[in-house]
Amino acid sequence: MSEELRCIGCGSILQDQDPKKSGYLPTSALKKALTSDDNEVYCQRCFRLRHYNEIMPVKENNDDFLALLNSISQKKALVVNVVDLFDFSNSLISSIKRFIGGNEYILVGNKVDLFPKNSKESKIKDWMRQEANRNGLKPEKIFLVSAAKKKNLADLMAFLAKKGEKKDIYFVGTTNVGKSTLINAIINMNSDLKDVITTSKFPGTTLDEIKIPLSNGHYLIDTPGILNANQLASHLSGKELEVVEPKKPLKPATYQLLPGQTIFLAGLGRFDYVDGPSAGFTIYVARDLYVHRTKTENADTFYEKHKDDLLLPPSKEDNLGPLKGQTFSPKEKSDILFGGVGFITTPANVVVKAYTPEGIGLGIRRALI
Ligand code: GDP
Repeated sequence: MSEELRCIGCGSILQDQDPKKSGYLPTSALKKALTSDDNEVYCQRCFRLRHYNEIMPVKENNDDFLALLNSISQKKALVVNVVDLFDFSNSLISSIKRFIGGNEYILVGNKVDLFPKNSKESKIKDWMRQEANRNGLKPEKIFLVSAAKKKNLADLMAFLAKKGEKKDIYFVGTTNVGKSTLINAIINMNSDLKDVITTSKFPGTTLDEIKIPLSNGHYLIDTPGILNANQLASHLSGKELEVVEPKKPLKPATYQLLPGQTIFLAGLGRFDYVDGPSAGFTIYVARDLYVHRTKTENADTFYEKHKDDLLLPPSKEDNLGPLKGQTFSPKEKSDILFGGVGFITTPANVVVKAYTPEGIGLGIRRALI
């Protein structure tokens, strides 16, 4: 067996010395490759690329990323903005409108599987269009999909196949919206695409793109995920996300509240009922998230006493900062949004105060359900 084994993805000589250089494999994996009869070995980078479509995320104001976006406006392209329906407002990329140019732009709302079964897709789309318009974005079309559950993908795929005859298709999105899962699902549904994924550096920058050739000379291009400080997910560890991110459709839990009562959503959300009659408030969060009801007058003390045990996450290591509140006085039945943690449906004509760490991800919308 030759000592100079090459990666069958990129052709680099495999090495275990420098993870930053091409052909890197951890020593144990390289040893295994050298002693086995199997010559089908990928370097770590190609392995990740094939299995997870992994490219390094960047900050929204990263110069290279801005250059990449800028280059899209000079081309004839379709921009596919993948967003997380469960944290929609915070997964919209505000700077994107400057870069779309005259190009077509569509929104793909992912994780639709998390909405309770009785949610109306038309209501979800109306809300998305309003939010997009508020941010100066005019999506030509809105798709609601579940990449993980492969739901509603056929319509999107048919649309992309048609557009891909005429132009390149760029996928953009903040981290954790499920962009990789979606692209993998698309590739798996076109199984002949699996072996043709290439990676290239965007010219003149340190950024990678994943290019998937379509049948007619155009490409489906995956760009790096953008880290957004307004997404709770970008602050929490993987283990904490396991608790916070729902995996199954949200199961509503209704609490009858009087003014002067407070609900904690672990340490990531606090909801004070300030003024109104005795009323039902419906909480939509992941099943494993700790929900606690207490009196508002005891809430500060309870939080200080339990922020390091009952009210985890977040933990100290997340450096999320103290809870900051905002008062809402909805005139119609509304959902108070706690970023990627969930939402609480309130009746009309009440006064409530909602808190998250540093106020990240707080918002309100007309009730969807
Ligand atoms: P990326 O950072 O945008 O590439 O996101 P990933 O594809 O890595 O997905 C981020 C998280 O969202 C992971 O925990 C996925 O399991 C989850 N996820 C992705 N797609 C879906 C979906 O359709 N439904 C649900 N419920 N979760 C999803």
